[in-house]
Amino acid sequence: MRWRVYAGAGRGWIGAPPLPPRSVAPCAARHAVGRSTTGRVTAGRVTRPGAYRVRDAQAERRDGSGDEGWGPVTERYDVVVIGGGIVGLATARALLERAPAISLAILEKETDVAMHQTGRNSGVMHSGLYYRPGSLKARLCRQGKAELERFADTHGIPRERTGKLVVAVEQADLPRLADLESRGRANGIEGLQRVGPERIREIEPHVRGLAALWVPETGIIDYRQVSVALADEIRAAGGRILTDHRVTALRRVSGSPTGRAWLVSTPRDPFLARGVIACAGLQSDRVAAMTGHAGRERIVPFRGDYYHLRPAARPLVRGLVYPVPDPAFPFLGVHFTRRPDGEVWAGPNAVPAFAREGYRRLAFSPRDAAASLAWPGLWRMALPYVRTGLAEMWRDASRTAFLRALQRYVPELRAGDLEFGPSGVRAQSLAIDGRLVDDFSLGEGDGILHVRNAPSPAATASLAIGRMLAERAIDRFELPTPERA
Ligand SMILES: Cc1cc2nc3c(=O)[nH]c(=O)nc-3n(C[C@H](O)[C@H](O)[C@H](O)COP(=O)(O)OP(=O)(O)OC[C@H]3O[C@@H](n4cnc5c(N)ncnc54)[C@H](O)[C@@H]3O)c2cc1C
Repeated sequence: MRWRVYAGAGRGWIGAPPLPPRSVAPCAARHAVGRSTTGRVTAGRVTRPGAYRVRDAQAERRDGSGDEGWGPVTERYDVVVIGGGIVGLATARALLERAPAISLAILEKETDVAMHQTGRNSGVMHSGLYYRPGSLKARLCRQGKAELERFADTHGIPRERTGKLVVAVEQADLPRLADLESRGRANGIEGLQRVGPERIREIEPHVRGLAALWVPETGIIDYRQVSVALADEIRAAGGRILTDHRVTALRRVSGSPTGRAWLVSTPRDPFLARGVIACAGLQSDRVAAMTGHAGRERIVPFRGDYYHLRPAARPLVRGLVYPVPDPAFPFLGVHFTRRPDGEVWAGPNAVPAFAREGYRRLAFSPRDAAASLAWPGLWRMALPYVRTGLAEMWRDASRTAFLRALQRYVPELRAGDLEFGPSGVRAQSLAIDGRLVDDFSLGEGDGILHVRNAPSPAATASLAIGRMLAERAIDRFELPTPERA
């Protein structure tokens, strides 16, 4: 069915002003503080309300006619960012820094920022040890971590370099530990050391292992606090963060006097944007599908459940204790994480999730479960690893099995030391051939950038990912920067 916007849908029109010429975007802007007619507004630059004559660009391509109308589009922006997780926030901040004259809004479907992956993760600032040298993950993790540490210090956000031990507990782990060490050296990890049992005991007196890698520069931080600080900076720079704004459709529109733009629909009002950057995390494939760019990858969610160590057991772990990762499933394997508030979390595991945004162990969404099960890539990935998957699910269901996995590293741990903790769901992109998409992946269309795969360490790397996306957006959307003016 063709899309059509009708005139006079009950809103006061002020004519059909053209999208602002690139260099004068701020002239069309005013500042608003408080609540707008379109929802919860904090503070920021708002474009003038008006009616815009838009044309369905897809229909135009199909039959040359287009499909025109006058629509109640009350707000227009140079850039709309979809998603108020740490990647969307970091991107918006970087854009406003590089192109301060633009108008920008973040549309977030929840009532606050950082309510999904960003606010439900381990809080580790990764060093970049694991990632293939030269990959985006390797490069952006190192850049992003350095930037994040500076950002935290400037904003008074607590952070700590606790260091991390990656522990080999059996002979079979040793060759993989050696590979990891070479990777770490290739990635330039500072202070990386291979250590034996005695040094393990000096660093973590309650941990046992045959050998380990000691990574002193790994740290911890609360990514929710980082997100709040980013949101404050965005507002201060004139950007808007509109919560309770779920994007439901995206339509490329053209026609005088608006030029080509994206019509971004929400249950409240539609918005016009010259460019869109989609940072939708667990929903990234669905947002990409709205633009006809579903591609050959889908998000397959993996839930990770944590246990807390009761206060009396917290001294068993000083910093971060990790297993040697399986290269086929780098996110498998429970670990211990000390949090900035002094808690120690054990986990997360990784089990197939039947709800993308369900944080209870039995959470189920028919839509999400059906989408995962219907994706051929899931079956191609899972069938050769049925035993691994079942073992992981068993560990999730049985506290004793979970405890046993933890005791391989900290033998003194007892069942009474554990209590149920929170859960998070990882957005993992899975290709149709069953390949886990390992690196960060970005997609592009006409006037739109999609973050397709931003799993761990995307929180660590977020400020660097944001800069990269901002540069690309400036180039692709031809946004004005002080140098170009
Ligand atoms: C259990 C777990 C542990 C992890 N541990 C670490 C760690 O220690 N260190 C690390 O660096 N990384 C870690 N990660 C990974 C890290 O959390 C993510 O890579 C990062 O948070 C991704 O950020 P994001 O902004 O892309 O996604 P999200 O934080 O999920 O944000 C996406 C946002 O988009 C919004 N959205 C989606 N669809 C729409 C729509 N249609 N309209 C409007 N808004 C929409 C969502 O509501 C959400 O707020 C972990 C992840 C998990 C799940």
